[in-house]
Amino acid sequence: MKSDQELPPELKRVAREGGTEAPFTGAYVDNHEKGMYRCAVCGTELFSSDTKFDSGTGWPSFTDPSNLEHIKLREDASHGMSRTEVVCKTCGAHLGHVFDDGPQEAGGKRYCINSVCLDFEKKEN
Ligand SMILES: [Zn+2]
Repeated sequence: MKSDQELPPELKRVAREGGTEAPFTGAYVDNHEKGMYRCAVCGTELFSSDTKFDSGTGWPSFTDPSNLEHIKLREDASHGMSRTEVVCKTCGAHLGHVFDDGPQEAGGKRYCINSVCLDFEKKEN
């Protein structure tokens, strides 16, 4: 696990201070490769490319975490909105938010995750 001092400023701002990266700027917004997205701070497996979909929001979006045990959901009333925050259970990094407007055929959830909080591990064929 990386210490707070080792975190790049943008990752620190988002993961540790609950910030949000600017939409359409993240490295993984349009990534369609097969693989696993891990927590950029501690390396925990978070989301599989199998659940990634194009939401058009500008942030990587997933219908499900790879393992519900790896994340924590927390009510977030900041910025005058009632939202559900998604946090890495292992290291407590803020990852993004989950909304109920995802694809209905896949359960209706949209995990809206900041690219900067993810490390992509490409699956070799
Ligand atoms: Zn983590």
